[in-house]
Amino acid sequence: MTIIGGGIGGLSAGCYLQMNGYDTRVLEMGHMCGGVCVSWKRRGYVFDGATNWLPGSADTINLHTLLAELIDFSKLKIKYSDIFIRVEHDGGYFNVYNGARKLRDEMMRIAPEDRGPIEEFTNAITAAAKLPIPFEKPPEAYSIADFLAFPFKNYRLIRFLMKWRGMTIGDYARRFRNPRMREMFLQIFPHHEFFSMFALCIALGWMSARSDGYPLGGSARFTEVILERYRELGGVVDLNKRVTEVLVHDGAARGVVCADGSRYDADVVVSSADVRETLMEILGGRYIDARTRRQFENWDVYPSLLQISLGVARTFEGEAPKLNIPLCRPIRMGEFEARDIMVRVCNFDPSLSPPGKTSLVVHIRTPDYAYWCDLRENNTRRYRAEKESVADTVIDTLERRFGRVKNKVEVCDVATPATFVRYTNIWKGSYQGWAPTPRAVGRTLTKTFPGLKDFYLAGMWAWPGGGLTGVIRLARDVAYLICRADNRQFTTT
Ligand SMILES: Cc1cc2nc3c(=O)[nH]c(=O)nc-3n(C[C@H](O)[C@H](O)[C@H](O)COP(=O)(O)OP(=O)(O)OC[C@H]3O[C@@H](n4cnc5c(N)ncnc54)[C@H](O)[C@@H]3O)c2cc1C
Repeated sequence: MTIIGGGIGGLSAGCYLQMNGYDTRVLEMGHMCGGVCVSWKRRGYVFDGATNWLPGSADTINLHTLLAELIDFSKLKIKYSDIFIRVEHDGGYFNVYNGARKLRDEMMRIAPEDRGPIEEFTNAITAAAKLPIPFEKPPEAYSIADFLAFPFKNYRLIRFLMKWRGMTIGDYARRFRNPRMREMFLQIFPHHEFFSMFALCIALGWMSARSDGYPLGGSARFTEVILERYRELGGVVDLNKRVTEVLVHDGAARGVVCADGSRYDADVVVSSADVRETLMEILGGRYIDARTRRQFENWDVYPSLLQISLGVARTFEGEAPKLNIPLCRPIRMGEFEARDIMVRVCNFDPSLSPPGKTSLVVHIRTPDYAYWCDLRENNTRRYRAEKESVADTVIDTLERRFGRVKNKVEVCDVATPATFVRYTNIWKGSYQGWAPTPRAVGRTLTKTFPGLKDFYLAGMWAWPGGGLTGVIRLARDVAYLICRADNRQFTTT
């Protein structure tokens, strides 16, 4: 079997298929595995923007059982923080604690007049922490009996979904009378105000259950652990193999062709590469049904990212691991004007910087990915100048907020949405696929396509919300469906 893409989704699909007795090969276009779950080294500093937290890191939520099928947790040291993010705005601050009760007290400190919406919100987080997420079988494999039993087994989850799915974070923020609370609530997930409240409550619920750890070593270590497992199970990875075409015979996928002309025959092909690349380029747009087309036209994706990574020769004791702070001056980037930044102060992991020094990772989320891609393609000089100008504003902002930064910067590295696209092909530079908006959240997306047998879509684009645990779950679903099509009993050992 051939798997396109060596991100966490592709490697996980490989693991589950190997567990079930299939011989698999992962073809990755890059020079290393991991996809967007990546870090890079510059002069002793490691810059890691992905893997902030791993949903299911502890057995206080049921998704841990899923992760433990794949991950030997004795190989990962997990670190926990009390604060998810500290939001600073208009002279005030809001510590978003990883615990419903503490979060409630913090919100009451800021907006005592908003007791009603604060308690409703934090009670929802407490409830979400106790909701098991069904993952044992993909919905596509449900029997009539499974469908009938589902509402009884999952009535609390369904009730919760019905209540919170249709409301966006922006809608809920408008319930607060306190203007500062209203603004800062939007920055719990900065620039994601169009997400469904369901997604926010579930994420904070898992954090409240303290199943939200950070694996020390970050993205590199996480990828390494999954890759090791894949290889132990007998899987093979070929790097620098960009798949350009799926070979189809009698309506079934029978292999792939790569950009270098190499050809791999296969009885099943799984793509865990970007969805647009898969459907429009590799499959040439031939297998898109009306539903998928509507999805492409109408659904929102996670915004694209600029990542400004700084190696700073000082420590930042006592700071929150992640902050959202206002920029000292707005940055115009095409259609979008950035007014705030998210700063990750990576002093929680000694492997990310030399002793006494700190890696700072700054994210600016922008929906205008095209601005950066066009600049890079058509005007390299201006592209470089714009990157430098963004970095200058970010450094000035950090100087104003923390002091003693400007003269201590040893490394400055700017990745734009064009960089993410170049390295991983991700559509619109979106770092986590389809956004969990009211329209999308809770929907099962198609993993197979009409007129094409033996081809499956795995990876973050097959589930709104993506994420590490999300793509592992999808990989499991796809392996399950392949076993079912083959009349094999699915196993996870
Ligand atoms: C900044 C950032 C922060 C994040 N934070 C978190 C977090 O805290 N917690 C969390 O759970 N998730 C987080 N995520 C999301 C999570 O990392 C992703 O959802 C997940 O890693 C996606 O994995 P994937 O395999 O589906 O996709 P990708 O990582 O996109 O992998 C796809 C792979 O396919 C390869 N590919 C593409 N086209 C081809 C082709 N034609 N031929 C061969 N190979 C191809 C790409 O090079 C890539 O390696 C974050 C992501 C980012 C970027």
